Amino acid sequence: MSSSTADTNAAEHATSYPPSAEFVATANAGPELQAAADADRLGFWADQASRLHWHEPWSEVLDWSDAPVAKWFVGGKLNVAYNCVDRHVLDGHGDQVAIHWEGEPGDSRDVTYNDLLAEVSRAANTFTELGLVAGDRVAIYMPMVPEAIVSMLACARLGLTHSVVFAGFSASALRSRIDDAEAKLVITTDGQWRRGQAAPLKTAVDTAVDGAESVQNVLVVKRTDIDVEWTEGRDLWWHETVATASPEHEAQAFDAEHPLFILYTSGTTGKPKGIIHTSGGYLTQASYTHHNVFDHKAGKDVYWCTADIGWVTGHSYIVYGPLSNRATQVVYEGTPNSPDEHRHFNIIEKYGVSIYYTAPTLVRTFMKWGREIPDAHDLSSLRLLGSVGEPINPEAWRWFRDVIGGERCPIVDTWWQTETGAIMISPLPGVTATKPGSAMAPLPGISAKIVDDDAKPLGAGGNGYLVLDQPWPSMLRGIWGDMERFKDTYWSRYAVEGWYFAGDGARYDEDGDLWVLGRVDDVMNVSGHRISTSEVESALVGHHSVAEAAVVGAADETTGQGIVAFVILREGAENTGETLIAELKVQVSTEISPIARPRQITIVPELPKTRSGKIMRRLLRDVAEGRDLGDTSTLVDPKVFDAIRGS
Ligand code: ATP
Ligand code: MG
Repeated sequence: MSSSTADTNAAEHATSYPPSAEFVATANAGPELQAAADADRLGFWADQASRLHWHEPWSEVLDWSDAPVAKWFVGGKLNVAYNCVDRHVLDGHGDQVAIHWEGEPGDSRDVTYNDLLAEVSRAANTFTELGLVAGDRVAIYMPMVPEAIVSMLACARLGLTHSVVFAGFSASALRSRIDDAEAKLVITTDGQWRRGQAAPLKTAVDTAVDGAESVQNVLVVKRTDIDVEWTEGRDLWWHETVATASPEHEAQAFDAEHPLFILYTSGTTGKPKGIIHTSGGYLTQASYTHHNVFDHKAGKDVYWCTADIGWVTGHSYIVYGPLSNRATQVVYEGTPNSPDEHRHFNIIEKYGVSIYYTAPTLVRTFMKWGREIPDAHDLSSLRLLGSVGEPINPEAWRWFRDVIGGERCPIVDTWWQTETGAIMISPLPGVTATKPGSAMAPLPGISAKIVDDDAKPLGAGGNGYLVLDQPWPSMLRGIWGDMERFKDTYWSRYAVEGWYFAGDGARYDEDGDLWVLGRVDDVMNVSGHRISTSEVESALVGHHSVAEAAVVGAADETTGQGIVAFVILREGAENTGETLIAELKVQVSTEISPIARPRQITIVPELPKTRSGKIMRRLLRDVAEGRDLGDTSTLVDPKVFDAIRGS
């Protein structure tokens, strides 16, 4: 890839936002962090690992001799759950709230670290009684209830490897993940609340485990009290087993490289891959990033990450990062608009949330609903905002900062992946002058490059592929059951040994700050110019009438690919048809370049999204090129296509 005129983004000329003096004065991370990492990268990570309690010290920070499978903190032994729970209780913080849990129907529950220790110990005793031993796999298919977090921690405590499957996935998706990992236990709930309705969940498990040879037991939390089928001998109620087990349990230490979890990537780009993460390095980086990127202060902040535990963000920034740092956090069970669009803002007010970490798709949804909704609330407790999952358009970034953050909260745009385990590229809130839409720079201790097709590293102004050229503690250790695919997918793109290919396009602006452009597959080629879908989308969302946009490159006889855009209008915006479409085309031409002007723009009521909230461009490309749709099984609502085609 080379840079071209079409690659520059008008947003680059926007103001940058340095941290306030007030924020800098108390920030966890200052410039010395980068200096320390530059001076001695492995020594730096050794220091970070000392954030944790080790039952036995390690003898070597990194063994990379078997690349691309790394060993971090070689010989060290620790217990991940002990680090997330026991040590806080032993340090005298047992009465601190760990989880302010907010149920969808309006019920709520506070779980202290004392409570968490008792619950996790009970669950660990129950799992042991069921015959599970370290190394066994457990599937967790649950809504956002405290028992889901307890289950994950109980697995960690016993050295069981958990595989959390998002509770919105189908029985067949669950089955393929159970089979792939040969899970012995499946943990679920009777049902789950969705927009005021109790929807069955255990029925999907019944279908999924029918004939699944590995599964010995199904453990069921009663959440909605709806009727369930029961298989005697296999099915167990949580309230009859875990709740009555002993709350005493002594944690054993496991090797730093003991597998902590398997998590299947969402499958936006093909068959899901069972990404393997281990213990010591993973927890070190989850803890380090949560502390420094979110500037988290134990006992003071109220932290809220709006992800689901079915995604890696829920693993690293609801469970392991925050709990290892003794956070007090909000966990919310439902959707942002139940019972109405005020829900998140009510929760922020109710608990005095100070750190709010969410996804661009939700910010754009809030924009679509209109600022009157957040404006009706006192959001002054907020002091830091975070974004993850997709590039955030500069327009959405500014709206997030102005409307939600009251123009005072720094925004951390965090780039990372299921595979990286923890945040890799992000501003540091007390150090970095941020730019709307840019993830800015690799964190101290992390090394990344942008390279061209021939692996040549690019400098300021360069546009190419993102690679991670040095191993990092929370890196994936493989794909479950398929180490060849692991090597092919991530480590073979370049002849340079030990370079991890992230699959994302990225560029440096003239100041050398890094902009992630999204998946390489989502970069279009128009008359030989490389244009990123996210940049065109940002230009469209920059128009006052547009709430959200999805852009794809469709085959074009003259230009190679032609740009086709689908847009959703903001609430209350007038649809003036051709006039609006013409305005939007001009907007893109002036914001980016006439080369990026869309060939076609369609105004649609809805966009197809995966269950993690990302736009499924692959399917829109099918529409744009007039093909039958490919696999729509991971879409939230396959019916949106009728609406799109009818527009
Ligand atoms: P699959 O790999 O199965 O197709 P996925 O890549 O969506 O699914 P995740 O690991 O959850 O699964 O997402 C990581 C990807 O999300 C990154 O590779 C990148 O494309 C995108 N992403 C995450 N955070 C950011 C960010 N802050 N800025 C830009 N892109 C981001
Ligand atoms: Mg991916």
